[in-house]
Amino acid sequence: MSIAKANISDISTFKTTISRQNDYILSISQHFLNDVEDKLSLIAEEIRNIKSLSENIHNNIAKLKNKLETLKEEQQNISNLIASTPKTIKVTRTDSKGNSYVVEETNPRYLELLSKLNNVKSQINDVKQSIDSYNDLLKKCQEQIARLESVAHVIYESKSRYNDYLNRLQEINEEALSRLKNIEYILNQYKDIKIEPPNLSSYGISSSGKGFFDFLNGIGSLISVSSFRIKSKVHKKEYDNFYDMYDFIDSLNASSEYKESLAGSFSLANETLKVIFNRYAKKFDCKSCQSSSNYYSPDENAIYINAVEDMNHPCGIGTSFYHECGHMLDDIAGNESKIGCAYSAFYGLFKEILTDYRMTIDQICRQNNCNVASAKEILSNIIISNPYDSYIVSDIFNGLSNNDVDGYYEHDEDYYKKNHFNVLLSSEAFASITSQIMISNQKSLNFTYQYMPNTINKYYQIVDEFLK
Ligand SMILES: [Zn+2]
Repeated sequence: MSIAKANISDISTFKTTISRQNDYILSISQHFLNDVEDKLSLIAEEIRNIKSLSENIHNNIAKLKNKLETLKEEQQNISNLIASTPKTIKVTRTDSKGNSYVVEETNPRYLELLSKLNNVKSQINDVKQSIDSYNDLLKKCQEQIARLESVAHVIYESKSRYNDYLNRLQEINEEALSRLKNIEYILNQYKDIKIEPPNLSSYGISSSGKGFFDFLNGIGSLISVSSFRIKSKVHKKEYDNFYDMYDFIDSLNASSEYKESLAGSFSLANETLKVIFNRYAKKFDCKSCQSSSNYYSPDENAIYINAVEDMNHPCGIGTSFYHECGHMLDDIAGNESKIGCAYSAFYGLFKEILTDYRMTIDQICRQNNCNVASAKEILSNIIISNPYDSYIVSDIFNGLSNNDVDGYYEHDEDYYKKNHFNVLLSSEAFASITSQIMISNQKSLNFTYQYMPNTINKYYQIVDEFLK
């Protein structure tokens, strides 16, 4: 039975499933987002309407206030007239016998003014009531606008949260697709090779299916332990022009366990670095895997590895191998570009290392209200209490501080003093970061990023330069 074949078909099923899932998510999201947009524009329109209504009410209130002023003036005028008008007048009358006599009667003019005054007073009351009721209406409009705005705000927040989820989901899907493509690419190279089926349950794959990510992780281990072993059998005759990292690893004079681990890490490593490593693999050389120490020899353009020690490296199997490969890559690329030094040093990694070191010391001084000497001591303690995750920070900050900052992983006391201080620090940082990325040691990279964010960012920029 061909395991590779079975897995290729499983992978293409998963790829289809993920693509369908992506399409489905996109289509329902589009519906949902359209609905949300509709609701938001309805609310906006409602708010506009209420605002224009409020505008009209304001105008009416202004008009009524003018009218009130006029009425009050009129009231004053009438009151003045009343004050100057006598309440009664003397009238001469003639009785039946023809005799004249004088009587006092109420002044009709006075009565007329009194009635006018009452009329104006009642108009004033009416206008005041109208103003009050318009003001009530205005208050209700404002309350309604505030309510609608708060609803719109909630919808808007949900929409932006939803967009975040959606983006994250798509990222996860893309990541899964790219991992699957990668696995498919590797498996395709061995598709005609018959191998004994491994015990699937030991890779976390059950026939009932344990879920997609379990499967994916299972496939990862499957490749790291079994695909590599069979590759060299077909490789030489079928792919004469194609020499990559797997061939380089295969060519090492080391135990199969060690080679399988290195190939396994490589298959799961950062895509960009894999492309670069594959491109330079032809020029890589390892003189020995039984060396007493690990180093890169620029004169020979080759690395020396202590495979047994590296197999038990506390920072992860292959830490030393990929560290020395990092030096080799850095140096070969530098030679090829004729820049006269390591590629990383030329592209200014040291400047970022220095920035990160100063930033870290400054921050510790501020946080602990202490001097630089104490800050170095505090930093040493942090590094020592994270002995393996500080693999990169320990060596680089030790070199940069003339051994004041002291950790678990360091070069000899005089190493960085020898020559080209900044070139050495750049290339050591470059090699160590490369190593931890190649073995996917996320914990170590996270710790490094906490203290050397600029260096890590610059590292990725430099790596991008390789591809140009
Ligand atoms: Zn080194």
